[in-house]
Amino acid sequence: MSEKYDVIVVGGGHNGLIHAAYLQRAGKKVLVLERRHVLGGAAVTEEVFPGFKFSVCSYVVSLLRPEIIRDLDLPRHGLEILPLDGTFTPMLNGDYLWRVNDHAKTRREIARHSRVDAEAYDEYGKAMADMGRFVKPILGMTPPDPTKLNWKGLQDLLFLGKRFRSLSGEDKYNQVQLMTMSAVDFLDQWFETDPLKATMSASGIIGTFLGVRSPGTAYVLLHHYMGDIDGAFRAWGFARGGTGAISNAIAEAAREAGVEIRTQASIAKIKVSGGKATGVVLESGEEIDARVVSSSVDPRLTFMKMIGEQELPGDFIEDIKRYKFRGSSGKVNFALDALPDFKSLPGAGAHLRGAISISPSVEYMERAYDDAKYGRFSRRPYIDMVLPSLTDPSVAPPGKHVMSCFVQYAPYHLKDGNWDTEKEKFGDTVVDTITEHAPNFKNIIRHRQVVTPLDLEREWGLSEGNIFQGELTLEQLFFLRPAPGWAQYRTPIKNLYMCGSATHPGGGIMGANGKNAAFKLLSDWKRGKV
Ligand SMILES: Cc1cc2nc3c(=O)[nH]c(=O)nc-3n(C[C@H](O)[C@H](O)[C@H](O)COP(=O)(O)OP(=O)(O)OC[C@H]3O[C@@H](n4cnc5c(N)ncnc54)[C@H](O)[C@@H]3O)c2cc1C
Repeated sequence: MSEKYDVIVVGGGHNGLIHAAYLQRAGKKVLVLERRHVLGGAAVTEEVFPGFKFSVCSYVVSLLRPEIIRDLDLPRHGLEILPLDGTFTPMLNGDYLWRVNDHAKTRREIARHSRVDAEAYDEYGKAMADMGRFVKPILGMTPPDPTKLNWKGLQDLLFLGKRFRSLSGEDKYNQVQLMTMSAVDFLDQWFETDPLKATMSASGIIGTFLGVRSPGTAYVLLHHYMGDIDGAFRAWGFARGGTGAISNAIAEAAREAGVEIRTQASIAKIKVSGGKATGVVLESGEEIDARVVSSSVDPRLTFMKMIGEQELPGDFIEDIKRYKFRGSSGKVNFALDALPDFKSLPGAGAHLRGAISISPSVEYMERAYDDAKYGRFSRRPYIDMVLPSLTDPSVAPPGKHVMSCFVQYAPYHLKDGNWDTEKEKFGDTVVDTITEHAPNFKNIIRHRQVVTPLDLEREWGLSEGNIFQGELTLEQLFFLRPAPGWAQYRTPIKNLYMCGSATHPGGGIMGANGKNAAFKLLSDWKRGKV
């Protein structure tokens, strides 16, 4: 069979699409094959119930690299990011904590709970911004392999060393603490207000099977601090039309460049001959050849399912088997007839336009984790809610609303029962938890969609339901993601590359993985290594 494509990209999530767009723009002929009927992977909008458009999985955006937005001219292809203003935390004692993007207002609100914390909040924000700026260039870097330092690797390490040196003494200590401490221990050094620490620590556990007191979670705080929207550092927003609009804009840019994209094209096998990838075989039996295959799906699917152990070195297989997924979250999306009315701040105020965080205390968060440790979904989970229809009315019929609830913990491995039997009970727990804070909630639900970790695996190809294609823990980051020695987007199979969230710099709607991998592949091509 003649070779028709230069590159076949496995999976049409946002990283696969970005990867394809950069390759095609560099003159390669690229085909993207997506298993589902719709593009976007975990960054997808679907009209699950007539008139109600859900950002079924991911729901807010911040980390998407600004250079990718510029290079692919995404606003021209329909991307519009709308601001998400603040975080509202209802408390168990009937009070609330409501931080907004207006600095003076937030300061006054925190001072209402603790004057000391209001002072510390400014210092904390500055320190995190400095550290975020230190780490940010690493996102666009191919991680150097410390065991095989060539000239480029040495230059990269020197660059990092220089940046570290430019941090203030205080920030140097903070950086080391962030790498080693738990989110709560780190925050304890700054704050005393319990719901403030609980809500802030939540970003440290997202996508991990760890609790807010587990060492290493402080780093994940920083990962969520590195985004910016229109130059506003660490801001989060909604995409008009849901997160699928981001993927659609990228797909349009890719198509305009000449990329061919096929949906409902599930890849069964990556063909390997003489240690080299040569193309793919679809579930339908169709075979398509290409010079290079680039996989945006996770390493378990790529290597264990699509290739097979017999083609791979034993130590690499061991590393891939050890790679941790341990999905811990689910999603419940609601179509609502009215807005939730919170006991602690009644009415349809601006507090409903930002994130609403059910994280009233550190103990609450830790107890939610205790359930998961012993194989149950949390009886009272951490929930991060947004009501995008308040900012973007296009996602719901007039007068109606959509509400997106990210829920943790929902462990992939349940001790009793299975996710098919527990799914609706999990949905009920989420409804009960929200109703405790907003008593009208139960009565305003028109429809609900429950997405369990098993659904994430079956429908989105996320092994064990991990939202980031593998835990964002320190031992699986930078030059260790997805495996030691294989963090440079290459694999032990020649002409097989990786370009999804399981590579550096990890998960989130960021696009850096797809772009970095494209540059690595193009550079290898230029040097005759492909
Ligand atoms: C519930 C949930 C909530 C999240 N919330 C946020 C959030 O609010 N903000 C944020 O920034 N990030 C969030 N994330 C993470 C973020 O969405 C992901 O990290 C990101 O979308 C992954 O993009 P990707 O392109 O690397 O991979 P994916 O999106 O996983 O794309 C891989 C693609 O490959 C396809 N595929 C799988 N198997 C095959 C096959 N055999 N043949 C062909 N194609 C195949 C899949 O269908 C999928 O489209 C969330 C994720 C989830 C699941």
